[in-house]
This record gives sequence, C-alpha cells and structure tokens, in this order.
Amino acid sequence: MTDSSKLKRQQEVTKLRKQELSRTNSVGHADSVEKVLGQISMLSPDEVRYQSGRRKERLVGADVERVVLSPTVFRKFVCVAGCTACCQKFTLDYIPSEMLEEEDGFDWRFVNVNGRRRGVLTNDQNQNPLCDFLTAIRPDGGLGCSRWPRPPLACISAPQLQFIQMRPGTTYVLKKPFGRAWAMKPTPQCEFLNVDLSEVDLQTNLAILDRFHAWAKYFRIKTCIPQLQKEIGKVLRAGVIPTEGIEVWHR
Ligand code: SF4
Ligand code: SF4
Repeated sequence: MTDSSKLKRQQEVTKLRKQELSRTNSVGHADSVEKVLGQISMLSPDEVRYQSGRRKERLVGADVERVVLSPTVFRKFVCVAGCTACCQKFTLDYIPSEMLEEEDGFDWRFVNVNGRRRGVLTNDQNQNPLCDFLTAIRPDGGLGCSRWPRPPLACISAPQLQFIQMRPGTTYVLKKPFGRAWAMKPTPQCEFLNVDLSEVDLQTNLAILDRFHAWAKYFRIKTCIPQLQKEIGKVLRAGVIPTEGIEVWHR
C-alpha cells in the first residue's frame, strides 16, 4: 500500500470512528475471562469457581444436567454491513497458546479458577469509549476489527455460538441474536437465515469450539465439547439439518 493510500485509509478510519456512539456498559460482563468461563461451565458437569483481582471468588454458570445441540446452529449467520454493535466495553483476553508472543497493549494478569492460578494476556477496554482495535475497514465498508482473523474468543463467539439455559439444568447450544440486543447500539444487527446445509459455514463454528476446548483444558475444566464437535460432524456427513435438538451429553 502506498503512503498516500495509507493516509487516505487512516483518514477514513478516523472519520468513521468519530461517527460511532461512545459505548456505555451495556454488556453483562466487563471481564471476558469470567464470561468465557461462564460459557464453558454451561458445557461442564463440574462447578467452576472464579476469582480475579480484589473480587471475591464466585461460582460462574449453572448446574448442567444435559446439553442439547439446537438445529439453530445450522443457520447461516450474517454480520450486517456497517454494524459494530458487538464491540462494547470489556476486557480482551487470550490464553498463552492463542498469543505466542506478547503484543503491545496486552499485559499478563493472573486469575484463579477452581483454586488454580493461571495467567492470561489482557487488554482492558473498559475505560475506552470505543475499542482501540475497531480500526480496520471491512470489505463491505464500515469499521471492522483489526485483530481479525484472531479476535478474542469472547468477540468471535458472539453471537454465533451461545450456550444458554432456558430451563434449569438443560444447556442449549444455539446460534441466535443477542439476548440484550435492545441495549446495544447501533441497530440493525446480525441476521440469521435458514438455508441449505451447504451454505452454512460450520468450519468457523468448529474452529470457535476448538478455542473453547483449549480454554477448558488450560483452566482444567471437563466439558462435553468433543462430543458436541462429533455430533456436528455427524450432521455434516448426513447432509440433513435436524428438525429437533440432539442430546449431546447427560449426567
Ligand atoms: S477486539 Fe475487535 S471484535 Fe473485539 S471489541 Fe475490539 S474491535 Fe470489536
Ligand atoms: S452485532 Fe452482529 S451484525 Fe453487528 S457487528 Fe456484531 S456480529 Fe456483526
């Protein structure tokens, strides 16, 4: 890229960032490690206790009796051009295997998970009106993530892979709009389309599950992620989108 095109691009990014609304703390978790561990605990038979900084240790997630793969995972997910709504205020975190060399802006912090001390590499965006990494221009225009294709797990998994209990004890693995989309600006946000299986990008979902699995192993949390990946593989081989949920694991 020539110097003049770099300058032009920088000016475009500055202009687009000025047009963005300052973020308020509209998401539930300012600490993404806690959020990711809460998600992982939804796929685990075990308790997950988390402690960070000066906060007291607490239980994250909920009791899990069974895990069900929802047919919604086989929808097509579309990130709407110009939308930046998922870039809110929270910590950006990587486990060591995801960031082989320390990068500027990322510092080690130590958390305790089930009594074990573990280091993560963190860039805290809680005090910024807008994420420092919202500085790329997407192919379809508008701002995008300059950490792509390796954004933090909390960013890349939302909202296309969620682990939610709609009734106590049963975790559904879903692809669905954000539960608190009303609290997030701008709108409109993601689109979820029912399409033929050949049009669904499940490789991205499987790669995201690999990252959840790596986190679970790093924090020594037992999960049913391998069974979940196996069930998704079976659907792919059969070539038919299921009409009902598939039980992946039960106690
Ligand atoms: S790291 Fe990327 S995806 Fe995550 S909040 Fe920042 S710009 Fe958005
Ligand atoms: S809210 Fe949905 S459409 Fe908007 S940036 Fe996030 S993933 Fe894309």
